Amino acid sequence: MIGVLKSSINRDNYATKRLHDFGLRWFRYIESARDDLSEFHLLLVPKSELSKEETENILDFLENTGSVISLYPNEELVHNVGSLNEFLEVPQDQLSGHVMLDSIDVPVFGRICNIGDTEFSLEMAGSEFPALARRRFNKGSLFVFSYSLSDSVLETTQRLLTVNPKLGDGVKWGDYPGNLLDVTKEPLDVPYSDIQMIFLRSLILTELHRQGIALPIVWHVPYAKRTCVMITMDEDWTNPCCLDHSLNLLAERNLPSTLFVTEKIEGSKAFLFQHECDLAVHPFHKNATFSKDTLRRSTGFLSESPKGVRNHRRLVARPEMFSAEIDLGFQWESNLGVSKTSGFANGTGLPFFLWDNGDEYDLLEFPIHFEDDLYLFEEANFDFRESVIRKMLEESRERFFSCLNLAFHPIHIFLNSTSIADYEDCKQHGVSKNGQKLQEYRASLPTRKGVENLFTALLDYLIAESHDILVTTCQKINDYVRECQSVEISFDNRKTTISGCFEGLTILFPFTDESRLDEVENLFAKAQSIDVGGIRSILAQVSSEGVRKGSIEIEGESFSSNAPGTEEGGGC
Ligand SMILES: [Zn+2]
Repeated sequence: MIGVLKSSINRDNYATKRLHDFGLRWFRYIESARDDLSEFHLLLVPKSELSKEETENILDFLENTGSVISLYPNEELVHNVGSLNEFLEVPQDQLSGHVMLDSIDVPVFGRICNIGDTEFSLEMAGSEFPALARRRFNKGSLFVFSYSLSDSVLETTQRLLTVNPKLGDGVKWGDYPGNLLDVTKEPLDVPYSDIQMIFLRSLILTELHRQGIALPIVWHVPYAKRTCVMITMDEDWTNPCCLDHSLNLLAERNLPSTLFVTEKIEGSKAFLFQHECDLAVHPFHKNATFSKDTLRRSTGFLSESPKGVRNHRRLVARPEMFSAEIDLGFQWESNLGVSKTSGFANGTGLPFFLWDNGDEYDLLEFPIHFEDDLYLFEEANFDFRESVIRKMLEESRERFFSCLNLAFHPIHIFLNSTSIADYEDCKQHGVSKNGQKLQEYRASLPTRKGVENLFTALLDYLIAESHDILVTTCQKINDYVRECQSVEISFDNRKTTISGCFEGLTILFPFTDESRLDEVENLFAKAQSIDVGGIRSILAQVSSEGVRKGSIEIEGESFSSNAPGTEEGGGC
């Protein structure tokens, strides 16, 4: 059992709450570190003030029971342990995948110094990636992060960004600076919040592994797939023939998508939406100022209450916007993006629940990883094999196991745009209101490689790689993530129990005995052995029998690990 010391400040519990979103279960919150800690295998200490008595109890835990991870440089702990004599840093190339049972034992700094003094601070300040200090005790290790992990994850998850100057163009983006950003240069090369969370999770798994416990993880992509892709499109008042064109390209391949509609759907238009396409809304907030009334009107665009929203021009205004969305029944939104340089987000691009200054919102954000019109501002490469999308997909499958949100505009697909000028030219011709004229205009365009080529090559790639990649919709991942909230994992003697099972639920086992693979395949509908960060793991989808029973029980030692470093006080 992982014990989490409660912090009086909501914000300081953020990192531990996010661990739950990252699929880790088996937590219990502790009111005070004075309590009996003997049932725990590992303790997490967010920012909190520790009394002398509490500190002594924690030191006693380290001597006799297990490890402690302090999620910020807690002075009481630090001053009472003497020197923290190892410094750890995680090199970026070790951050592959989600389970890295071996990867944290990478001492980068070898100097002995006392935490809390300036030498320590300087040492840590010089570290580019998550860094921490360690001291080994009789039974466990004390790990101390050099900074407040919760603050850091929050800052790098939701920091609002300056406007992309290329898109600013006289547009005022609302109360907060807009968040349109360019992800097209070096996508996913972002050691930000997800990476920090992956690192923390790996540290936890490693410490449990050392005690012979292989903690299964609730996987963030359903149906035992490594990664998933959501094709999203903004309608933007497009002529129906453009929309039809895009939807047909998807329908011919039986691929689902998410369409954000800008106006009410009625009459003849409705037939366009019969494809495997989830609908969400795309309100236009005049003068780029968020208005709850505008949002409310958008709920009338669809026959059923919409669950998802992306504002036109991705307007972001918080926190009144988040509250208004929840009030009006929205469950998810897709306004934010990912950038290497802008400091936002999810290095792996996993959806996350929004927070603002310690307030938690029941609203799932799907960050956007690629957007065609931003791409058009760059020197875009429309050869899919050499495109940034391909690079993202390959990286995601090999390293990050992500949920990628790729945004397109039907007009750019229809025009096979190669630059924003192509779109401007079309507007100049004044044909955009007339379907037949638009078709003629399209036919008159010179042959060249543009957005449509990129789009169709992407779709064909997704079909060819469907063994690894799930193509799905934001709504479906939203539903999956929410159902996963109630999944629990527990251990009792030699038995691992996974409760709250449902169709599509996928579990990652960090370690199992190879000889029991058949058995796993019997217990689970689909199981594949994958190498995650150098660790053999099994990615398995709960079987229909498991769904019927509501829980799965796995007997035996093979589901606990043969820890590599079980010697007293041994390293991970
Ligand atoms: Zn739009």
